[in-house]
Amino acid sequence: MKVSHIEHIGIAVNSLDEMIPYYENLLGTPCYAIEEVKDQQVKTAIFQVGGTKIELLESTDPEGPIGKFLEKKGEGIHHIALATEDADTALKEAEEMGIRLIDNTSRKGAEGLDIGFLHPKSTHGVLTELCSL
Ligand code: ZN
Repeated sequence: MKVSHIEHIGIAVNSLDEMIPYYENLLGTPCYAIEEVKDQQVKTAIFQVGGTKIELLESTDPEGPIGKFLEKKGEGIHHIALATEDADTALKEAEEMGIRLIDNTSRKGAEGLDIGFLHPKSTHGVLTELCSL
């Protein structure tokens, strides 16, 4: 698989309202996009940090993936997203490497990216997202 860079790091937070000012101060850059991704029951806030991004994730439904994560583990790093040429091809390549997939084909994520997740059980605990424009 060919990965060009870390597209973003996803961080689960209880409240975007509280955490956006914190990250704006910490990073010295404003949050440039807030978007709800209904499909994943999250609201995201995105910061550009050099060639990568920080994606804050607030749950909109306690039964959604971020809601469950927050309940089990609390706030913290949720996933790492790798930028690939084509998410579907990268997912197939990961499967051929013996990695279990959460998504067999890509779906639309924040910022219109095509995204798909690898299963953390087969990535040694790191929830990994493959994405492409
Ligand atoms: Zn992500």
